[in-house]
Formats: sequence, C-alpha cells, structure tokens
Amino acid sequence: MTDPLHSVVVPLLYLLSAVLFIFGLKGLTGVRTAQRGNLLAALAMLLAVVTTLIDLGIVDYRWIAGGLIVGGAVGAIAALKVEMTAMPQMVALFNGFGGGASALVAGSILWGQILEPGQTGTAAALLGADSALTAFLSILIGAVTLSGSLIAFLKLQGTISGQPVLLPARHVINSLFALGCLAAGVYLAFFATATGELALVAIVLGVASLLLGILFVIPVGGADMPVIISFLNSLSGVAASMTGFVLGNNLLIISGALVGASGLILTQIMCVAMNRSLANVFFSGFGGETAAADSGEYTNVRSYSPEEAAMVLETAESVVMVPGYGLAVAQAQHIARELGDLLEKRGAKVTYAIHPVAGRMPGHMNVLLAEADVDYEKLVEMDAINPEFRTTDAVLVVGANDVVNPAAENEPGSPIAGMPVLQVYNARTVMVIKRSLSPGFAGIKNSLFENDNTMMVFGDAKKILQELVNEVKSITAAA
Ligand code: NDP
Repeated sequence: MTDPLHSVVVPLLYLLSAVLFIFGLKGLTGVRTAQRGNLLAALAMLLAVVTTLIDLGIVDYRWIAGGLIVGGAVGAIAALKVEMTAMPQMVALFNGFGGGASALVAGSILWGQILEPGQTGTAAALLGADSALTAFLSILIGAVTLSGSLIAFLKLQGTISGQPVLLPARHVINSLFALGCLAAGVYLAFFATATGELALVAIVLGVASLLLGILFVIPVGGADMPVIISFLNSLSGVAASMTGFVLGNNLLIISGALVGASGLILTQIMCVAMNRSLANVFFSGFGGETAAADSGEYTNVRSYSPEEAAMVLETAESVVMVPGYGLAVAQAQHIARELGDLLEKRGAKVTYAIHPVAGRMPGHMNVLLAEADVDYEKLVEMDAINPEFRTTDAVLVVGANDVVNPAAENEPGSPIAGMPVLQVYNARTVMVIKRSLSPGFAGIKNSLFENDNTMMVFGDAKKILQELVNEVKSITAAA
C-alpha cells in the first residue's frame, strides 16, 4: 500500500510552494506589489523547507536549527545594515552562496551514495546516467557561480580594482578551461570508477570550475557587474535545478528553473536598455570605473548658483526630476523629495522620470525614491515621459548623465548610440546638478551640458538640493 503522506501530501505541498513562488515572482514585477511578492516567495521557501524535512523524515533537527539560526541571523543583520547603493554586491553574495550550496549538495550525493559506502562502478551505473550527468553539471555551474559572484562582490565593494583584467589570449585560456571542465565532468559521470579516482576527479572538477568562474568575471569592468550579477543569478537557478534532478526533487527543479529564466530575462532587459549585447558585456572589457573613452572638451557651458536655479523653479508650473547614479551616491533621495513637495505646495506639477538603467542596478531609482516615500503615481517611465518634455517648464537632472545624453540619438559612432534616452533637451529649461564635467559610466562627453537651455549647477547633489530647498523656502516665506 502506498503511503499517502509521501504520495499525496508531500507532492501537493510542493505544488503549493511552486505556485506561491510563481505568484511571488509575479508580484516582484511591479513596485506596488513587490513587497507582497517577496513575502509570498519567503512563505513558499518556508513551506518547501518544512515539506522536505517531513518528506525525508528528518528527526534530528539540531544541525538544521543551528544552520537556520546562524544563517538567518547573518542574513537579517546584513539585510538591515546594507546601504541601498551596496545592494548589487549583496545580491552577488546571495547568488554565490546559492551556487555553492548546489555544488556542495551534488558533491554530498556522490559522497554519500558512492564513495562512503565504497561502491564500485561508474557514477552513471550506480546513480543512473541522468543523476550522474546533472550532479556534474551542478558542481560545474554551482562552483562557477560561487567564485564568479565572489569576484563580482569584491569588485563592487572596491576591495579589488573594478578595472577589467584583460589577460593575454584570455579567450583561448577561458575556452580551454571550459572544455577541460566539461571533459572532467563527463569522465566523472561515465568513466571514473567509484574509488579514489572518482573523488579525485570530483575535486579537480570543483577546483577547475572555481577558476573558470574567476577567469570569466575578471575581464568585466566593475560598472558592468550588475549585468554579470543578473547572469550569475540565472546560473545559480540552473545549478539548483540540476541539483533538483540529482535529488529527484520536483520543487527544486521548478524553483531553480524560475530563477534561471527570470535571471536570464533580466539580463536581456538590461542589455537591451544599454544597447549592448551580452557578448559585448562579457568579452569587450568595457565598463571600468574610468572608462573615459572620450570625455571631450566642453565649450559654452554655463554655470549657475543654486539661488539662480531656484528663481527658475519658482516660476515653473511643471517640473520633472531626473534622478541618476549621482543621486544614489550622494544619498540625496530624501532631500529631492522634500524639494518636490515644496514645489508642489507652490502649485507646480512635479513628476520623476525613470530611465530603466539609471543608476547601477535594475530598478535602482525606483528603490531609492520609494525609500524616500515618493508616491508611485509620480514616477513616470521613459516612454511615457518623453513626449511630455516639450511642454515641461523645468527639468532637474540630479546626478544623471548617460541616460540624458543626446549622443545616443545623434552620434552613430558613440558607445551609447541607439540606447533610448530621456529627451530632457526638449524642455524649456534643463538644470543639471553634478560635481564637475566628468563623464558618467560610458565615459563620454554629454553635449546636453552645452545647450543654450541648460543650466549647470555644480556641486554634490545633496548639498545643492538642500540649498535649493532653502532658497525656495525663503522665496515662499517672502511672498
Ligand atoms: P552616469 O553613470 O551616466 O552618471 C552619473 C553622474 O553622477 C556622473 O557624471 C557624476 O558626475 C555624477 N555624480 C556622482 N556623484 C555625485 C554626487 N555626489 N553628486 C552629484 N553628482 C554626482 O549615471 P546614469 O544614472 O545617468 O546612467 C547609468 C549608467 O550606468 C548608464 O550608462 C547605464 O548603462 C549604466 N549601467 C546601469 C546599470 C543598471 O542596471 N542601472 C547596470 C550597469 C551599468 P560628477 O563626477 O561630475 O559629479
């Protein structure tokens, strides 16, 4: 007689968990529903863990409880302490640990089912060809994800240089390493007999895969890391899915596939928004912090004081704020909202234009403005705001550069040619707050700064916005 717990209840609970994961992911696609999506996904994870414990009949919870307490505490403290600008490296660490966990589980299956009992025969003969193959893929992809993510973390954290490290003949070296890993994996699954040989090949595969992950990420510039992190996130899902096959666990297969697919879609969205191909991100060595390809000479730049800028804002009936990476660096989101609120109180219509790749991670500006409690209704996506600029009195560009650079539209040879940009130049007056004429991420000149309707207000975003707030307040008080 079949046991209803394992044949009915466990699969149903896994199904429920998978459905919750899907709804959680759906929730994460919108700012308004993201928090609920996160909670649903966390609930799905809890259900998955509990169901697995029931399914495997695990009664000694001491190690599990220890792991939960230590891991949960580290995760909670890290999540509470992390700055918004450090979110990409935090995600990198999580991806890396996910990949590492998958590789370790696959390794433990090889150990527990073949090596420790001292069985003889190939992994394919003892575990089945599908399990042996997916165990090797899990070790390979998981280890690449772990070491690649750690390098991404160190680059973004500034612990190691964000510059691309371009080894001579790196494409040949990387290809040889990848082929070597594949060969070791096939040997591990189908040829090594279950003795010390199998253990040795598994260790060689693990170490070579870790090196491959490092070689794969070091040529990528620090500023391109978010794209790589999104790709590694996808790989961590694929590794988990492979481990699901090894364990015969449907939920792990499904949730890993969800992470794999969504990470890949996100990578694609980021590449399209930057008008770059994934191959270009991986292999071009672009995106170093000082990519200054052609920062150019400027003529006809007009610099204004915050007082003069405030006088323009005073009469503006419509104001669009354009936040960029510099706003995040300066942590100026709260003061930006305060200025927006003040102008609204004076009767102006204030909105915030969101470019999909403004900042350094997807949704960066949405997150920052949400942190400052800016109403979602006031955030307008690029395609919706672009036609509005023609009738806008004043645009306030705060620490943004590439996402408002007209070169994307009118200079076919530019590194950002073809990237959709915010057409702020169409507004009556454009005020640009930044510290200098330094280029942004793409390292190129921005002719917007030379336009007749552009006012440059030089200084740290937080400081200048504070001065604007003070000026607008004193104008209002004097009225
Ligand atoms: P940019 O990197 O183009 O420009 C940011 C500007 O902020 C700089 O020119 C800098 O000028 C200024 N800045 C820096 N610190 C401050 C400060 N404290 N106060 C005021 N200004 C400051 O940013 P954008 O947001 O316009 O564009 C994002 C770029 O990043 C795009 O090229 C995009 O492709 C790329 N990217 C985006 C990713 C994403 O997922 N969002 C991922 C990877 C890359 P100055 O030094 O003179 O102050």
